[in-house]
Amino acid sequence: MATTLEKMETVNATSEEGTIESEEVLDLEEEESFFQDIDLLAEHNVSHEDIKMMKKLGVNTIKGVQMTMRRKLLSLKGFDEAKVDKIKEVCCKISLSNGFLTALEVSDQRKQIFKLSTGSTKLDKLLGGGIESMAITEVFGEFRTGKTQLSHTLCVTAQMPGPNGYLGGKVMFIDTEHTFRPERLRTISERFNLDQTAVLENVLYARAYNSEHQYELLNSVAAKFHEEAGIFKLLIIDSIMALFRVDFTGRGEMADRQQKLGQMMSRLQKISEEYNVAVFVTNQITSDFSLLSPEPDLPKPVGGNILAHASTTRIALKKGRGNKRIAKIYDSPDLEESEVTYVITNGGIDDPKD
Ligand code: ATP
Ligand code: MG
Repeated sequence: MATTLEKMETVNATSEEGTIESEEVLDLEEEESFFQDIDLLAEHNVSHEDIKMMKKLGVNTIKGVQMTMRRKLLSLKGFDEAKVDKIKEVCCKISLSNGFLTALEVSDQRKQIFKLSTGSTKLDKLLGGGIESMAITEVFGEFRTGKTQLSHTLCVTAQMPGPNGYLGGKVMFIDTEHTFRPERLRTISERFNLDQTAVLENVLYARAYNSEHQYELLNSVAAKFHEEAGIFKLLIIDSIMALFRVDFTGRGEMADRQQKLGQMMSRLQKISEEYNVAVFVTNQITSDFSLLSPEPDLPKPVGGNILAHASTTRIALKKGRGNKRIAKIYDSPDLEESEVTYVITNGGIDDPKD
């Protein structure tokens, strides 16, 4: 972790400019090579009109084309099998990939991954350093466990320098429950001695009104991440399931809900990889605690298997005494299942003092 002084210096340099651009120039140069613009296709005889059509679909990069199903491209006006073949082939050529990487190359790619602090060093440690980029991290728990407070804390910590040369960046916040409070960002910024106005300016907010809107917003999010290449580091959705639970009710609509949810999670995963951002989602729990569950006191997240498979790391949050809360790794590809205690303070999520 950088010292407080280093953090302050960075943000002071920033706040004079009003944005984080000055300190981010170097970072930006590095990140630009991270993805290749879809406009490159024009140099390979793909028409500007066709490129424009793909952008409308939310596809802004060569990797994005490779991530998109042929079926989806074929649905675009003027696209037929031959055209899609050609575009896919050109993308392969541009990205110099035949689809395979050596494990060493994967290891190099993973060096670009950064981790964001939760505000609690214990919780960061539990997470192997913090909330990881190129992945989806999900926290779930009953009301008042601090899911929204953690989201607010991350809005601030994501703007601060961190380990491995991480310089900080902007945040995108999608709010489905209307519980985003900019005032909370001010008190959290104060804790870290950051310029409050600069911090608020670096958080872009969108309110989602229904599950379709939530999905559609992701196209605008991707376009923004593309436009300000390498500047955004975190995408928060608080909460991922709330609108789906309202829009789809009863068993009859469950299959439809899960299909739409799957599409959204897949889009989120792709965005996290395409733009090297951390995706942080909060989730609710079911009211039917199974007595047969091996851990009956541990709440169960909603969203079923679709969400379970889509989230890279899942963290269960529980209430403790007073402002104490407990976080437990519920599912992770590389973290052990242990738990820590954290507190909710005026300055955001923190370690307990005693
Ligand atoms: P829900 O499921 O209802 O969305 P949540 O898990 O998002 O709940 P939060 O809103 O993150 O819950 O946390 C609420 C808790 O945070 C409450 O216990 C509240 O007292 C505490 N809290 C909120 N603001 C502050 C503050 N400024 N200082 C200290 N504690 C706070
Ligand atoms: Mg909340």
